[in-house]
Amino acid sequence: MNLHEYQAKQILNSFGVNIQRGVVAQTPEEAVEAAKEITKETGSEWHVIKAQVHAGGRGKGGGVKIAKNLEEVEKIAGEIIGMDLVTPQTPPEGKKVHQVLIAEDVYYPGEHEPEEYYVSVLLNRATGRNMIMYSTEGGMDIETVAEETPEKIFYEEIDPAVGLQGFQARKVAYNLGLSGNAFKEMTRFIYALYTAYTESDSSLFEINPVLKTSDERIIAVDAKVTLDSTALYRHKDYAAMRDIREENPTEVEAGEQGLNYVDLDGNVGCMVNGAGLAMATMDLIKQAGGEPANFLDVGGTANAERVEAAFHIILKDPKVEAILINIFGGIVRCDMVAQGIIDAYNNIGTIEVPIIVRLQGTNADVGKELLDASGLNVHSVIEFQEAADKVQELLG
Ligand code: GDP
Ligand code: MN
Repeated sequence: MNLHEYQAKQILNSFGVNIQRGVVAQTPEEAVEAAKEITKETGSEWHVIKAQVHAGGRGKGGGVKIAKNLEEVEKIAGEIIGMDLVTPQTPPEGKKVHQVLIAEDVYYPGEHEPEEYYVSVLLNRATGRNMIMYSTEGGMDIETVAEETPEKIFYEEIDPAVGLQGFQARKVAYNLGLSGNAFKEMTRFIYALYTAYTESDSSLFEINPVLKTSDERIIAVDAKVTLDSTALYRHKDYAAMRDIREENPTEVEAGEQGLNYVDLDGNVGCMVNGAGLAMATMDLIKQAGGEPANFLDVGGTANAERVEAAFHIILKDPKVEAILINIFGGIVRCDMVAQGIIDAYNNIGTIEVPIIVRLQGTNADVGKELLDASGLNVHSVIEFQEAADKVQELLG
């Protein structure tokens, strides 16, 4: 589960990571009140106003702006709230902004130039260990840094038996070129960040940029957090941070019906039982020259009710030109699945796109006979390859 920046910062702060003073606001009036409160503490009139959406690159899309007084706070908040923010990480039509974070501007010039770094903690799946990834090139797309100057990205792997060691935190601060108070603050920052990551059962904590202020303090200016959804039962307070408005509505609806559905960009809808088979089916579709429109695991009980629900979900996507149903009858019998498909089809009425059904396993032949005799616009096959050929043929 992803969080908004302001929520991620609340978690960071609770583990002792330095953040800017900030308040979230739903309206320009609330934004002004927030700015007044912050000014009382900081004495500064300058604030940063940041769109809260689940997407990075907000700065580039006009979702991060500086206000030098209360009038500007009101004006900018009014412009950002309600806008469809388009960034390299949003869909082309953008994401609706429902709230903004008002925070103190911590980039004020001083004795030293403010500097930006990149620090993240994530799971290295290749080694099965958590690692700290960091770079002096903060504020930029880390993907671009990785492509153009990979030598500027450092990695520090954590041994799970002993946890993060002091020398490792110091090494990060050293490699970032820090000294004096900033060095000390950075080692503390790394410790607190790593603790936040492990204690919250996250799979990603990405701070880009980490700021060294002109008075040598280290602050998390941005925060992207991905919590492990399967561990949310241990964190009721974090689970309550879910913002359903940020999620794909079809995926939310599928989830409520117990269907494991992920929306994709292609033209062939998939209905499969089992995640592994679903992955293999997506490969098969690609091989046949199509592109999967979704991942959909209907689970073990592929009965009429679930098949119908799955049809409804898949057909919400206007890009779908064909549907491939691939069911392995191990525990579930193929003739029951076939009957489920026929019943679901009849309940829906007409389905405009062709349907290819591949049933294999217990009573596969009986299932195929049922489908062939149904008179519906369903192409029934037994072999995986036949299904692929049929998809190719139907898509031309
Ligand atoms: P992102 O674009 O979604 O990654 O949002 P960030 O929070 O990283 O902000 C984007 C950029 O805005 C940062 O890299 C900074 O350069 C700038 N920025 C963010 N906060 C402040 C601030 O408090 N003051 C100033 N002057 N610039 C800021
Ligand atoms: Mn950022």
